[in-house]
Amino acid sequence: MLNSDNKTDVIVVGAGPAGISCAITIARKGKRVVLIERGMFAGSKNVFGGAIYTQPTKEIFPNFETEAPVERRNIAHNFMILGKEDSTTISYRKSGNGSYSVIRGKFDRWAAQEAKNAGVTIVEQTVVRELIKNGTTVVGVKTELEDYYADIVVLADGVNSLLAKQTGLRKDIDTKDVALSVKEVLKLDKDIINHRFNVKDDEGVIGQIFGGPMLGILGLGFMYTNKDSVTIGLGVTLNDLVENNYRPFELLEQLKNHPSIAPLIEGGTLKEYNAHLIPEGGYKKIPKLCDNGVMIVGDAGMLVNNLHWEGTNLAMISGKLAGETAVEALNAENFSKKFLSRYEKALKNSFVIKDMHTYKDLMDICHERQKAFLDYYLKKINSFFEMFTTVNSVPKRENYWKFIKSIFTDRKICELFKDLWAIIRLLWGILL
Ligand SMILES: Cc1cc2nc3c(=O)[nH]c(=O)nc-3n(C[C@H](O)[C@H](O)[C@H](O)COP(=O)(O)OP(=O)(O)OC[C@H]3O[C@@H](n4cnc5c(N)ncnc54)[C@H](O)[C@@H]3O)c2cc1C
Repeated sequence: MLNSDNKTDVIVVGAGPAGISCAITIARKGKRVVLIERGMFAGSKNVFGGAIYTQPTKEIFPNFETEAPVERRNIAHNFMILGKEDSTTISYRKSGNGSYSVIRGKFDRWAAQEAKNAGVTIVEQTVVRELIKNGTTVVGVKTELEDYYADIVVLADGVNSLLAKQTGLRKDIDTKDVALSVKEVLKLDKDIINHRFNVKDDEGVIGQIFGGPMLGILGLGFMYTNKDSVTIGLGVTLNDLVENNYRPFELLEQLKNHPSIAPLIEGGTLKEYNAHLIPEGGYKKIPKLCDNGVMIVGDAGMLVNNLHWEGTNLAMISGKLAGETAVEALNAENFSKKFLSRYEKALKNSFVIKDMHTYKDLMDICHERQKAFLDYYLKKINSFFEMFTTVNSVPKRENYWKFIKSIFTDRKICELFKDLWAIIRLLWGILL
């Protein structure tokens, strides 16, 4: 809703989970909010694995479980460690595990309709090119067609956020701090999926994949079951892709052809292929998230917990908290950086920044010891199970000692101590 000067209370740029959650929070409090999205519709440009998490999603959309176009309710999480040919899988299974697989094109479109129903004005197929400033205060945005003005502008324009860079709050992302993710959605019969993944009806499985074509590089693979398709993909830091001259789609082909993966997706026909960036910098790379007249939410603020694969929930909750702050600011008619810093404070008190702080050293340690943790030890886990399951008339004790000796002969003692020290540092940061 805009007045004759194209002015509203709040403009939100980007209709992903962060932007929609922010806009809907503001509209539900009776304020005027315009949500601008460059795609044909919300979700048309959005890519993820993926799973949305039940509890945080319910904070914004209390009835989503019965009303939203969800695919499957995930009941199992498989951690797969792939060697060149072999693999070890640990599976955690529990009914009602707290997440659903969704297709973003469908889910975001539904969420945007909910926002419209709550009173949000959505302007689609419109790219915001620039911020409009009055001195140091952001007062609006320039699109290809016209200028829009507002008391507050919220930037929810995702990982690349050119607009956050224009505020001066964010710099270009270092190639170490961003992963390029490629994924395919493969169509498969529902019964085949249920049989192969050992589930029934609309139950689903998440696969978190280590190693395989990503042995030694900072990357992970993922697999999600949808109603009648399986999503498979991987993400590798841009730095590792460039340094090793890897092509992501070739790595994905290798992953799909791994003997432990191929039987799960055999016969699947390609429905969709996408590539997208994921912020991987962690806590230390979160920029300041507000300035005069402007707040940054979701991926645009680098809010992703990469170890737990959480992005949508951080996006939704940061959007909600920014929305609440915007409402307070409108009531107080104060749009200064100082007032809007209430959003940063609320975020710090929430799980969003607390969790990111918990893993503040994770990325540094991963970069430092990536060959050890993502190559040597992954292979060792598989070779332990190979030894344990081999029946070859060699006494078991001999096999155990051979395995233990190999740990000290395959890797220098000083490197083993460095690995141990890295684990202690990591645990220290997580637990204390
Ligand atoms: C392959 C992959 C797998 C993932 N898997 C998971 C998962 O399983 N679970 C999970 O929780 N998270 C996952 N994530 C992370 C998650 O997708 C993101 O954290 C989340 O989408 C961030 O939401 P957002 O609203 O901040 O940004 P986005 O979802 O990126 O939305 C940004 C929106 O802004 C629009 N936009 C951008 N620039 C402009 C502009 N100038 N003008 C107008 N509109 C603009 C875009 O079109 C888009 O709609 C995954 C990410 C990837 C890439």
